[in-house]
Amino acid sequence: MKTPARIVIVLLVVGAAAATIILKGNKSRDAANPTTAVVTSDAAAATDATAKLPKLLDLGATKCIPCKMMAPILEELKKEYAGKMKVEFIDVWQNEDAGKKYGVEMIPTQIFYDANGKELFRHTGFFGKEDILAKWKELGVDISGGKPAAGIVRETPVAADTRPRDSVCFMCDGTIDPKTKALVKGQAEQHAFCAPHCYFIYFSSLVNPDAKAEEAKVSVTDWENGNLVPSATASYLYGMGTKGRATIKAFATGEAATKEQQSAPGNLVTWDVLKAKELTTRCAFCDRAVYPEDACGVEFGSTHGHGCCTHCSLGVAARLKQDIEIEAKDGLTGEMIRVKTLDGQIASLEPGTAIAWFGQKKGPDGKWVSAGCFKQGFFVNETNLQKWLDARPAMTGRQITIAQALSDKMKLSPEQIAKACKLGECK
Ligand SMILES: [Zn+2]
Ligand SMILES: [Zn+2]
Repeated sequence: MKTPARIVIVLLVVGAAAATIILKGNKSRDAANPTTAVVTSDAAAATDATAKLPKLLDLGATKCIPCKMMAPILEELKKEYAGKMKVEFIDVWQNEDAGKKYGVEMIPTQIFYDANGKELFRHTGFFGKEDILAKWKELGVDISGGKPAAGIVRETPVAADTRPRDSVCFMCDGTIDPKTKALVKGQAEQHAFCAPHCYFIYFSSLVNPDAKAEEAKVSVTDWENGNLVPSATASYLYGMGTKGRATIKAFATGEAATKEQQSAPGNLVTWDVLKAKELTTRCAFCDRAVYPEDACGVEFGSTHGHGCCTHCSLGVAARLKQDIEIEAKDGLTGEMIRVKTLDGQIASLEPGTAIAWFGQKKGPDGKWVSAGCFKQGFFVNETNLQKWLDARPAMTGRQITIAQALSDKMKLSPEQIAKACKLGECK
């Protein structure tokens, strides 16, 4: 394959934000800077404009890697927006003149035209589907065919949460089982948790905690009689519940724990061992303790990690400045949702209908803030999200695209990422 001397491939390199690799000498770039929108009338668009439609033209080559990654996206757009937008691809290696005609120096290059064939915008390099759609919107071109933008917004609860405050877990908002309750009682604060696991999530969310001082504040519930006992002196039976998720039973004495062990298998452990086990697996974005069974899987490079929630898993791309692959479960049905990122954009989404819920609450100053990791989710479609919300009348927040959720994370500064999910830092 002969490569025209003037054309450069925009190569996307794992680990770098974007690297433009110049394969062939490039004479004068300023003559036609491809990142600048050149307003020209597109003759090709004018001739076949029996129906006047906006057009997305992708100039690439079938053998360039980022171009190949564009191909399924263009195919999807072509199908989904048939009759609303034209989608065309020109191979500039096979058709050198086309590259010259459009003044393309790098591939892939996408050119956005309005319905009259006027060029509105150019982009070089890989361009994700959601970002393309967002660009049309930004350019003020309606390719939705008049359909109003879908999306569930719930700013006020459908029903108030009437549970007594001391029965609600401070971390996960779940109703506290009196048999596994953990309690933090300090000078200023008192927080109840549904189980020791939620306490450890809380502990891993503290900013520079004094471990010994924190430990002294914690009581756990004796499984035998329901009394609160100091966490450090209790004995723990660490077993396996359904779906491989750990269960923790606390006992005031080792004898009581040994007795329980005969009917319910598990390991007898001290507080320190329990703590070490619980803090082993961390969210690769916010560093909170997680159980892998509850978390999203995140692949980066050759490493497999976890995101404690769906939004945190996207945050791994921002924290590591690396392309990632996520496996998340639909919040309602557990169906798998797969997301791949490329240079901080969505490269692929399976299924294509998947959406995100951004759980938000109104802060004391009236501004919307994240409602925390336990209030976030991905769903294979809006129907599942609606059903999930129906079962959570007190929930507030809004539906967003997964691309939006990723873009929000990519905008975070290193300082914000360092403070991510630490208690009180969301605001
Ligand atoms: Zn909890
Ligand atoms: Zn997290």
